[in-house]
Amino acid sequence: MTESRPLEEMAMAAPEREKKRDPIGVNGIRNQSDFDPSDPPPFKIAEIRAAIPRHCWVKNAWRSLSYVFRDLFVIFALAFAAIYSDTWLVWPFYWAAQGTMFWALFVLGHDCGHGSFSNSSKLNSLVGHVLHSAILVPYNGWRISHRTHHQNHGHVENDESWVPLTEKVYKNLDESTKTLRFKVPFPFFAYPFYLWNRSPGKEGSHFNPYSKLFAPSERNQVITSTICWSVMAALLVYLSFEVGPVQILMLYGVPYWVFVMWLDIVTYLHHHGYDQKLPWYRGKEWSYLRGGLTTVDRDYGIFNNIHHDIGTHVIHHLFPQIPHYHLVEATKAAKPMLGKYYREPRKSGPIPVHLIKNLVASISQDHYVSDNGDIVYYQTDTELYKMSESKCN
Ligand SMILES: [Zn+2]
Ligand SMILES: [Zn+2]
Repeated sequence: MTESRPLEEMAMAAPEREKKRDPIGVNGIRNQSDFDPSDPPPFKIAEIRAAIPRHCWVKNAWRSLSYVFRDLFVIFALAFAAIYSDTWLVWPFYWAAQGTMFWALFVLGHDCGHGSFSNSSKLNSLVGHVLHSAILVPYNGWRISHRTHHQNHGHVENDESWVPLTEKVYKNLDESTKTLRFKVPFPFFAYPFYLWNRSPGKEGSHFNPYSKLFAPSERNQVITSTICWSVMAALLVYLSFEVGPVQILMLYGVPYWVFVMWLDIVTYLHHHGYDQKLPWYRGKEWSYLRGGLTTVDRDYGIFNNIHHDIGTHVIHHLFPQIPHYHLVEATKAAKPMLGKYYREPRKSGPIPVHLIKNLVASISQDHYVSDNGDIVYYQTDTELYKMSESKCN
């Protein structure tokens, strides 16, 4: 399934590879060979901000809550329908649909974490805790590490979500970690392990208030979320005894893992797998604006509305205070200012199958970045790539 490229080509430094590639992009759009995406943009972040209409910045608590009620209604309706019909024909559809709805709930909790849900920090925290605990996410722990991700997006060392491994860290990985990180489908189940243990080369747990992820002043918030998470975990154990472990696995366990797949795939594609290699920065070359401009928007077809337009990631990254329901309009307004720094997502059919190619190609080829240099691109471990290719053929 992976895009086949000669190994010598992959061993080259990425920018040279770009020059050699066919000038016709995957979308049939000519690659902008005169345009270097790592160049500093000619506009300032204040100019993008000014291009976005005023009303896009307004948070409406009732509107945000209406999405929560909509999603909860669908979740309970799906569960009742599955319990009522209880046939093997229905269960797989239930798992796919319910896992997608858990993911939609996660996105609303993500708004709470950014404070874009409402102007009330108490309401944001309350709704965020309820939604995220329900899907076994420690709300404050993840909220804080996600804030670190936004504040350092595109920075090789300081970013906090699917960060690129440096060559030195990569070369010291054991074989099992390499498999889990770079062999499909293992990375699609990474999220719970990331919450417990963070990424290779980084230490800390989202559940531990003394973890390196948090400042001492944030410890109480982390404890609160870990307690909420534990209450939900205990409830699931209790229900397993009451109604049976198989029933809880069918109603909750399988959808939970479908949700994890959604989360891992979408968050990976926000920062990886674009048709053209995109830069990662360090040192003086990194800035909030340049890092944010390396994020990628995606079209998810019929899922755009269901998962609250999470695919509009560029403007979300630069301005996380914009509520999700204004992101499409804000993106449209900002595009003329962004010019070539905005990469128009490839139009999806109803189901975004076109993304599978980008996803698989990136996971199996984007292994590490150089230990040195302030502008770096992913490189490929040709040995590991050869092994995954021979298994595919
Ligand atoms: Zn992101
Ligand atoms: Zn975010």
